[in-house]
Amino acid sequence: MTTDIARPITPADLTERSRRALAEAEELIARIERGGGSDRAGVLEPYDQAWLLAATVSVEAGLMKEVHPDTAVRFAAEDVSREVTRFSTRMQHSRALYDALGGVAPAGDGERRLVQVVRDEMRRAGVELDEAGRTRVLALRQELTDLGLTFQRNHRDDVRAVDLRPEQLAGMPDDYVRDHPGGAGGTVRITTDYPDYIPFMAYADDEPARHDLHRAFQNRAVPANLEVLTTMIRRKHELADLLGYRSWAEYQTEDTIAGSAGGVRSFLREVAGIARDRVRRESERLLAKKRERSPGADRVGDWELSYLQERVKAEEIGFDARDARPYLEYRAVRQAILDLNGELFGLEFSRSRETPWHPSVETFEVAVDGEPSGRISLDMHPRAGKYKHAANFGYRPGAAGRQQTHSVLVCNFPDPHTVQGPALMDHREVVTYFHEFGHLVHALMRGRLRWARLARPVEFDFIEAPSQFLEQWIFDHAVLRRFAKHVGTGEPIPERMVAKLREARDFGRGVQTQRAVFMSMVSLELHDHDPKELDVMQVWHEMAAEWSPVEMDPEGRFPASWTHMPGYAAAYFTYTLSRAVAEDLSTAFTSGLMDLTQARRYRDLVLGQGGTKPALRLVEEFLRRPHDLAAYKRWLA
Ligand SMILES: [Zn+2]
Repeated sequence: MTTDIARPITPADLTERSRRALAEAEELIARIERGGGSDRAGVLEPYDQAWLLAATVSVEAGLMKEVHPDTAVRFAAEDVSREVTRFSTRMQHSRALYDALGGVAPAGDGERRLVQVVRDEMRRAGVELDEAGRTRVLALRQELTDLGLTFQRNHRDDVRAVDLRPEQLAGMPDDYVRDHPGGAGGTVRITTDYPDYIPFMAYADDEPARHDLHRAFQNRAVPANLEVLTTMIRRKHELADLLGYRSWAEYQTEDTIAGSAGGVRSFLREVAGIARDRVRRESERLLAKKRERSPGADRVGDWELSYLQERVKAEEIGFDARDARPYLEYRAVRQAILDLNGELFGLEFSRSRETPWHPSVETFEVAVDGEPSGRISLDMHPRAGKYKHAANFGYRPGAAGRQQTHSVLVCNFPDPHTVQGPALMDHREVVTYFHEFGHLVHALMRGRLRWARLARPVEFDFIEAPSQFLEQWIFDHAVLRRFAKHVGTGEPIPERMVAKLREARDFGRGVQTQRAVFMSMVSLELHDHDPKELDVMQVWHEMAAEWSPVEMDPEGRFPASWTHMPGYAAAYFTYTLSRAVAEDLSTAFTSGLMDLTQARRYRDLVLGQGGTKPALRLVEEFLRRPHDLAAYKRWLA
């Protein structure tokens, strides 16, 4: 399937080519269902091609929904998403396809893995149920989709605010104060949107004002979403029950590295044990900082965590995030990321003249070891109607000989074309850039496999490991000094400053890890019991009493705006588990991060293998030993 992406698409183009691809996929599946085939050519190849066609439609619509400047294209993309969901469910629920796959005698490990992965997915989707059961699954799935959309919409639409006196902005940076002039009555309105909220929680000296804003933030979408969430959890439990599982958590964790709800629980307990000393040391420093203003205080509140952390970083470590900015100009960073990934992983990037959906998007052709292997696009600057966070999106999933990968980074970094003076980045943003680029390289490498369906690792809790792993490069002086040069003087970033970046990054790691353990326990507990009598806030407070490193606001109802709930559900632990794997991966780089031999082994043995083997087997083949927590323990020591 080829698509001319040089031409800007219209809503009709998107709808027509998506329908054409889905019709072609339907034809392939119908042929298998009619068919009597029991081999690669009769079953596996048409199945994988149908899957690739549907996945291509799905990821393109998913991307266009978030980035296309034309609202009509974004709406068309939403409709396409619904059509492709219907097709995927129809494919997963096809008993004839399931049986045809079961009848294939696999020639070799690749085919065996393909059959196993697809049949597992279909079984988990309910293909073995009777007609009435499958109908019920479909109805529950559709209801859950709608509940999820309602939950996210309620959250998106509920922006709250506090009105403050101008002097309550004490401690805020000058540009923030300038951007927030007093309104009628002389009060200043601070909202719960990130650009208002995050700096205020980090820098505002006025504790009651911070506490008020925090409470407003924690109560977004209350009460509506507490009810939506409760219904969502009940429907998930019902669905799990229908599919033969004790709980949704049990169902969801079955094909993860953690392996089961019990596996998640014991992993989180182990993490809490590993982090204990560090959490105690950091908590003491935070509390000492708090006592400078509130003598006799005995506990740090959730609404103070960010502020106290910043105070320790500024006053004890001597770290000011603004100091590093002149060394991190957007274009230099962009070039450095391409060069560094090129060197590490044998990639060559050459500029493509395509402008797929917006003139600011840069596209590069990518060769791996000199062989043309796909494209990447960088959609890096904010504009109206565009996705607000940073993420890697697929555009074309790859499969050897059939379709080259096209993968996209969507971020919101300063734009060198629109800012006055050089477009300087925060080091934190550069870390995000590296992180997301890790997903991109993973997508490129696994898009060269024979079977499209096996490109993605099966284990959901492995997905963040390759990108968290790549974050480490950007804290290494040997790496940074190659490109981080002062915009005024051209001097490379001093080693001392990089050491401070690392020290500032490391402070708070224990408390943040423990906070993630608390949140992961809530996410697990909410989905691991019969929810007949469920009281979401009771679970939240019980888990907080046992696991939270800080005091939670008794009047805060954060689960109502916890956007991980519809999708991640019981699997919030993913971040923690992936981090433990990422730390282990880095142990192979014994002679520094620029060890190209190890980088190529990592590329070929982990990234390039996608989901062709269980994730921990890939890690084991790369490390030449089984995965363990030793490196993670050092990281949290
Ligand atoms: Zn990520």
